[in-house]
Parts: sequence; C-alpha cells; structure tokens
Amino acid sequence: MKRREFFGKSVLTAGGMGFLLPNLQGNHDFISDEYLGKNRKKKAKNIIFMVSDGMSSGTLTMGDLLIQKKTGKGSNWLNLYRENKVTRAVMDMASADSVITDNAAASSSWDGGFRVKNGSLNIRERGEVHLPIWQKYKQSGKKVGCVTTVPITHATPAGFCISTSSRSAKAEIAKMYSDIQFDVMMGGGEDIFAQHKNGNLLEIMKEKGFDIVTTNKEMGLLSGSKPVLGVFDKDDLPYELDRLHLPEKRDKVPSLAEMTKKAITLMKHHDQGFCLQVEGGKVDWAAHANDTLGLLYDQMAFDEAIGVAIEFAEENKETLVIITTDHGNANPGLYYGKEADRNFESLLKAKHTTSYLLNDVKKGESISNFRDRVKEFQGYELTEDECRILLKKYEDQPETGVYNDYKLPFEMYGNIMKKHTSVAFGGTEHSADYTELAMFGPGCHNLKPFIKNVDLHYFMLEITGVKNQF
Ligand SMILES: [Zn+2]
Repeated sequence: MKRREFFGKSVLTAGGMGFLLPNLQGNHDFISDEYLGKNRKKKAKNIIFMVSDGMSSGTLTMGDLLIQKKTGKGSNWLNLYRENKVTRAVMDMASADSVITDNAAASSSWDGGFRVKNGSLNIRERGEVHLPIWQKYKQSGKKVGCVTTVPITHATPAGFCISTSSRSAKAEIAKMYSDIQFDVMMGGGEDIFAQHKNGNLLEIMKEKGFDIVTTNKEMGLLSGSKPVLGVFDKDDLPYELDRLHLPEKRDKVPSLAEMTKKAITLMKHHDQGFCLQVEGGKVDWAAHANDTLGLLYDQMAFDEAIGVAIEFAEENKETLVIITTDHGNANPGLYYGKEADRNFESLLKAKHTTSYLLNDVKKGESISNFRDRVKEFQGYELTEDECRILLKKYEDQPETGVYNDYKLPFEMYGNIMKKHTSVAFGGTEHSADYTELAMFGPGCHNLKPFIKNVDLHYFMLEITGVKNQF
C-alpha cells in the first residue's frame, strides 16, 4: 500500500490533534488503487486553481443567467457541466473553530492540508506551522504564481504562499513574498509594498531581481526571465463594472482574464510545469455589501478567466483546472415576480456598482443630485423618501470624505434595489454552504462527489506526483 506510506508522514504530523479531532483532517482516501496501479503515469504537470471568493450557488446561477441574457450562451463554468467536460463535487469547507470559514482558514485547508482557526494562515492553534502547497511545488521545481483582484497579500493568495498567524499582517506577508521570490504575483496592493515600514519594497524587490509592473501595458511587455510582482492599484482593483466605465482604470488595470492569460504565458514553457492560483476576490466583497452589480459583473469577469484557463488546458492536456469557491456569502438569489426577468435584464444597462455609488456620496449631497447619479450609474428611479433615508446615513460621517465602507448603507440600498432587480440577499456574512467544486483535465475522474476542504491538498500533491513535506 504505497499510498498509505505516502501519507504516513502527514498522519504522524497530525499527531495528537489528529487523534483528538478524528473527523477534521479527512481520510485522504479518494484516489483508487486501481487508478494508481494502471494510470500512475497519468499525472497532471500543471495546476490552475480558480477561486471565485465567497460565491454562493445563487451567484453562480445568476452569473450564468446574466451571461445568457447578454450573449445567448451560458457561462464558461456551467457550459463545462452542460458539455459533460468536468467532474464535480460539493466540498465541506469548515474551519478548525467554526462550520463557517473565513478566507484565511479556507485557503489554509487547501494549501497547508490542515484545518486552522479562522483568521490564521497555515498555523494551527498549538503553533504547528504547515508549509503551503505553492512552496511545496516551488521546491519540487515547478513555477508558481497567483493572480487576484484584491491586494495580492490578501488571505486567499497568501494561504497558497506563506504561513502566518494573522491574515491581517499585510506588511509581513509582503516582506515574505519578497523573500520567497515566487514567479508571478499579480493583483492589487501597491501601497502595501510602496509604503512598507522597511522602505519602498517595490524598489527593494527590483534591486533583488524582480520585474515590477504597475500598468496593463507594462504587464504586456513582461518576458518571464525574472520573478514578477504586478500591483495595479493602491489597494483592491476596481470592480469589473467600474473598471469598464472608468477610462483611467481601464487603461491601467488589467482584467482578471488578462492577468490569467499573461501568468500562463509567463510560466507555460517551464520544463517541470507550473501552478497558478486565480482569484475573483471581490465577488466576496460585493456579497458582503449586497452589491448586486459588483457581485455579478465580477463573477462574469471570473468566468472569462475560466475561459482562458480551459482554452489553455484543452490544448495543453497536462493541466488540471480546479474551479471552486471557498464559502458562500450572503446567499443572494433572483426571486419570482411578474417583472423578474425584465428587472434582471436591467442589470446589463448599469455603468457603476453600488459600492462606487455609495462611496462617491459627498457630505451634504442633495436628494436630486443623488437621484440623478443613481439614474445615470444604474438606471433606476429612487423615490425622494428612499434617497432621504439613504443620505441621512451620511450625516454622522467624518468630514474627510473618506468613508468607512462598513458604515455605508449597503444593506439598506440592497433592499431598495430588490424592487428594481428582483435580486435579494439573505444577509451580509459568510454562510456554511457546502461549496461547488469542478475539475477539468488529467486526474479529474478521481474526484469523489463529496470531499472535505483538506482532502484537496493531498489530492493535488498526489495527482501531480509531488511528495508531501511538512
Ligand atoms: Zn468575506
């Protein structure tokens, strides 16, 4: 039973925790001996791991429906199901301290192979530090990278790359990236590097031999001879809908699909293969904000990136594409009403997200001005009363004009929008839903229909033939 030997070390390392919490770490028993015996050579050389962060099943459905209304065809993700091209499972994403995970614990479960408490990245309660899977792959000789629409130091990409007890230690994570020198890291977070306590980390990294890029044009010129850090905005990248309608953003900031394509191009010729994580990070942020437009346009942008990954994998034939989400969020849905179809279609005419609209309110803004902006940005007619109640929320805000996102009336606006869009949310927090998981490419047929988050770690190692190390 070579398979048991392969995992022997992991079971040993789990030690007392494994004994105390026998159900938490998964049984790692999902690849049949028959497969290993007959098809041992059929390994995946590359992995593209795609996460639509905080994507409830209603988000996946509505993304598909909106793409159908826009193009007449379904989403790339659901078309893989329609065309029977993938295997599919649901995944139990619980963390070590809750059935409702956060991004850090979710990423750690896949990447360190153990459930940790919410907020931690690959470090367990008793201090056990787990080597994240991109480091395991880097040590095995593969190129590795991450692209995201949130700061590149954010929890999901960070969980693939580093270990730290706090997901919010952005500066520490940035410094770790500069030390590890992964091959392609792209997303937001320019200020986290440029205003680092150790000096301008972008300059320091350039001196260390990185290619540093901050615009789409510069990204296009990369040749792949050096490790790459791309940071295209100060913090998070703009929502896709806003990016498309703000010329200065559209010129500077690449889409998730463009980053995905470039990252694949930069790593695909490497003899020992590559591993790329692709995150639609603001699907989660939009769900927290009950921002229907932010949510669905970013889900559609994620879907475009799926198209890029599958196109490459279909031609390459040695690439396993994993498509999933780390948890549900706010459980949105399209709800029945006489006008539901027409209401839903109205989302295709919008120019800006609710986040953009509500962040742009100036203190003392008049009702008529606000009404005009809602009409211009989203096409909806709000009543005077609705505007008055919303604007009242701004009265206690500080004069600086820099509003704390969490104090803005997102939930209230989401409720008002329901009348116009027929889309409603179940809250503003993560949910415990089992998550959607699809696989395309070599090894995908070993996926069983129900797995635990931690199983995916061992699945990836085994399917690529990379030995486990702790
Ligand atoms: Zn979240």
